[in-house]
Amino acid sequence: MDDLSNATAPVAVKGLNHWFGKGDARKQAIWDVNVTVAKGSLTVLMGPSGSGKTTVLTLMGCLRDVQDGGVRLLGHELNGISEAQAVMLRRQLGFIFQAHNLHESLTATQNVLMGLEVHGRHNSAQQVQAARHVLQLVGLGDRLDYLPANLSGGQKQRVAVARALVSNPKIVFADEPTAALDKDSGKSVVEMLKALGQQRGTTTIMVTHDNRILELADRIITLEDGRIVSDEHQH
Ligand code: ADP
Ligand code: MG
Repeated sequence: MDDLSNATAPVAVKGLNHWFGKGDARKQAIWDVNVTVAKGSLTVLMGPSGSGKTTVLTLMGCLRDVQDGGVRLLGHELNGISEAQAVMLRRQLGFIFQAHNLHESLTATQNVLMGLEVHGRHNSAQQVQAARHVLQLVGLGDRLDYLPANLSGGQKQRVAVARALVSNPKIVFADEPTAALDKDSGKSVVEMLKALGQQRGTTTIMVTHDNRILELADRIITLEDGRIVSDEHQH
């Protein structure tokens, strides 16, 4: 990758190392990871449990402090940025995690609106409309006012996907977002993310083990013991 593509890439990671624990328990979890992600692409992170996928994803997504090496996110170097700058950056991101963390007392639409509340705005009629629209996109148009308790695991995960997308994020970070979904709905969620990449230039970086999703990936990066052991462009 040349300097120009590095500068304009939504995410560029250089010489990234990371440690957990203190004193004698201090252990290196990430070793010299280098990745430059292209705008609008769908990148999959794979690897066995404990290989460092979640750690790399959270470092890229500004959810964890960078200890050593460079992470450039939307043109900002993360090492040493202020909390205020980090908050500004996170507002341009969407996060989907395995545990969907819906508020049990809020309906599907209200949960999706939480994806905008982080952005410090009021819920206008327009925002409610946007929340409903994105719920329709994920196939929940007939469940807008359901509470999580009355939704299946897969439907709850779709609400979490809708919540991540409602703010039109520039980058979506997803950690095994389809684990709770059956194969078909898992694939349709990722197809939707891929379409957003093509329509809006949304970049997606996703941890998954799902074979049917791998077919959709533009790039598959495999981690083992905290190191990249393979990095393949698909198309
Ligand atoms: P993966 O997501 O691929 O399963 P993780 O990124 O969660 O892997 O973990 C990578 C390594 O770092 C593992 O050895 C894990 O035990 C360790 N690790 C992750 N988070 C912590 C933590 N908060 N404290 C201590 N060790 C951790
Ligand atoms: Mg993980």
